[in-house]
Amino acid sequence: MQERLVELKTEALEKVAQAEDAKALQDVKVQYLGKKGPITEVLRGMGKLPKEERPVIGQMANDVREEISTAIDEKQKKMEEAALEKQLQEETIDVTLPGRPAQTGGPHLLTSLIEEIEDLFIGMGFEIAEGPEVEADYYNFEALNLPKGHPARDMQDSFYITEEILMRTHTSPVQARTMEQHKGKGPVKVICPGKVYRRDTDDATHSHQFTQIEGLLVDKHVRMSDLKGVLNAFAKQMFGEEREIRLRPSFFPFTEPSVEMDISCKMCGGEGCSVCKGTGWIEILGAGMVHPNVLEMAGYDPNEYTGFAFGMGPERIAMLKYGIDDIRHFYTNDVRFLNQFHKA
Ligand SMILES: [Zn+2]
Repeated sequence: MQERLVELKTEALEKVAQAEDAKALQDVKVQYLGKKGPITEVLRGMGKLPKEERPVIGQMANDVREEISTAIDEKQKKMEEAALEKQLQEETIDVTLPGRPAQTGGPHLLTSLIEEIEDLFIGMGFEIAEGPEVEADYYNFEALNLPKGHPARDMQDSFYITEEILMRTHTSPVQARTMEQHKGKGPVKVICPGKVYRRDTDDATHSHQFTQIEGLLVDKHVRMSDLKGVLNAFAKQMFGEEREIRLRPSFFPFTEPSVEMDISCKMCGGEGCSVCKGTGWIEILGAGMVHPNVLEMAGYDPNEYTGFAFGMGPERIAMLKYGIDDIRHFYTNDVRFLNQFHKA
């Protein structure tokens, strides 16, 4: 009996030493110390022993049980410590590592460009004026010398809410509204930035929604040379001191005379290249002297007051300035595109 207990003890301690994880250790515990284990069996069989041997074997069996139990507890403690140590090592934080950069947003390229143009004109004494994007036919067309049935309306087909209300096709109605507010008296000197809408099929150079910036100056004795001076200052500040401007005759219903303004091509210096289509010049904006009918409808006496107006597309200016080849890049919100201009 004693030999059997010594044997069991050696066997069990060996298995404890060999156990590699908590599960193996638990198995050893159940196998040797469980209710159906060999030591319990020994204790159960005590009745068959001679009386004088019983205390000796009992004591021994308890000692063996105690020893195995202690060995299991110690092993378990070691395993837990090792696991903790391993975890600590794996989760070490290296405080000297550089942090992950936080993703920050920034103004959209068009927003930045419009603000740049605004600043430029504010520097020349203009104020910012804004108006509704859902506009009355009267302000969008009629007050700008485009009566119903006028053929020039065809170029500005839009999205109509009703017969008389539409998404504005240009920022020019803000000019009509601003002049009207002045009730025919005193100077007006504003630029009007904002979104406009046309019923266009989207492609590389067309979009059904885009932005415009218009300028209007009305006062006594305003001349065409004043317009040229303002546009020249704008072109040089926007595109570079070395740029020249050129005014070509054009037609707009709300100005008379009307002009298109070109700037000299930066790529070829006027020699002619693919960017300027061989002409040496790049078209930037439309302008002209405010039509007497427009002044009169807004309440100004065209015999006393004159004025000039101009309008440009920030998308077109951004495309020229930064070499962007597709207008759709502005609206598809691809961060790879947008990120390039955060510090532009
Ligand atoms: Zn060129």
